[in-house]
Amino acid sequence: MRCQRCEGRRFTKAGRDRAGRQIYQCETCARRQTDHSASAFRGYRFPDDITALAVRWYLRFRLPYADIAELLAERGVHVDASTVYDWVQHFTPPYKDAARPHRQRVVPSGRSMRRLSGWRPVGSMPIGPSTSTAR
Ligand SMILES: [Zn+2]
Repeated sequence: MRCQRCEGRRFTKAGRDRAGRQIYQCETCARRQTDHSASAFRGYRFPDDITALAVRWYLRFRLPYADIAELLAERGVHVDASTVYDWVQHFTPPYKDAARPHRQRVVPSGRSMRRLSGWRPVGSMPIGPSTSTAR
């Protein structure tokens, strides 16, 4: 762990926060922090994994906030739908930024798709019964 203010590495224990996490005090600048202080989830009351799961469910399955609150309640976590809304609003941009480098094309580019499968434009194929009247 490094101090967020001075990058120092020497700490002394300085009690516990309301969540029961150990507080450390920097020996150089006296800043107090926990292991959680550098987390993106700092300042949120619920455990990080619960918050991350709710946001993931929203982004992956497009569930309404109330349904996510209900799913969490079934697992013993009682959260209001407006809290889920707050989490989604706050954490969606960092999730998008983190996912962007891992995005892949769902469909190959038109040129490589044609080359691989012998695909031809629809307009070049006969569609439906022949309209020719010649017999
Ligand atoms: Zn420090």
